[in-house]
Amino acid sequence: MNRRGLLIILSSPSGAGKSTLTKRLREWDPTLSFSVSATTRDPRSGEAHGREYFFHTKEEFQAMVAAGNMLEHAHVFGNLYGTPRAPVESAITAGHDVLFDVDWQGGQQIRNSALGKNALSIFILPPSIAELERRLISRGQDSEEVIAKRMEKSADEISHWPEYDYVLINDDLDVTFDRLRTIVSAERLRLSQQPGVVDFTRALIDEFEERS
Ligand code: ADP
Ligand code: 5GP
Repeated sequence: MNRRGLLIILSSPSGAGKSTLTKRLREWDPTLSFSVSATTRDPRSGEAHGREYFFHTKEEFQAMVAAGNMLEHAHVFGNLYGTPRAPVESAITAGHDVLFDVDWQGGQQIRNSALGKNALSIFILPPSIAELERRLISRGQDSEEVIAKRMEKSADEISHWPEYDYVLINDDLDVTFDRLRTIVSAERLRLSQQPGVVDFTRALIDEFEERS
């Protein structure tokens, strides 16, 4: 039976584990479509244009916004980040789920968009602030200054947890991933995501009537 695609939004303070959980979800279900964001920040080592992000200049980014090509966009840690609209619309129309790694501003804008009724939003929390900092340092990708800036913003990001459908505390990674997978599996079965149920039940009733 066909179903509507879900917009699966993952947000968290930087370093809590969104990218790691996103990667696991995509390995678990390769049909999940990942929304590759555009950003004006510099690529980290190992990041490729079009895979982790589309890396653009500020002028290029602003031109995409002006042309209406972004589903949402926001300033995060001094850079611009945004979700290109076209790939999301075509994936959802084809009945695929789309995964978003965006901050609270992106989460709000996606929920308030025309596609928002298909949104499933999950907020990831670290087990402690000390552990959050340890993870940012151990990721080994950002300078001390960038880490300090991200830590400074984490209280603000965390304050948006009540806007989400689910909150997961990412202590043990395997446990968190298992919970995330369970949430996605259950939400796919929601009646509102299965428009085909209407025709299916009508056919069942018809079958009853034919027997009588
Ligand atoms: P985010 O995408 O939210 O910024 P990452 O997924 O990059 O965070 O995770 C930050 C660092 O923490 C990475 O080095 C990652 O391997 C590590 N990490 C993620 N989840 C856990 C966990 N449950 N326990 C320990 N380390 C974790
Ligand atoms: P990073 O630079 O660590 O990859 O991401 C920094 C922050 O930007 C994270 O909170 C991430 O979720 C957020 N982010 C990434 N892409 C987007 C996007 O397209 N839109 C918004 N609003 N935030 C994004």
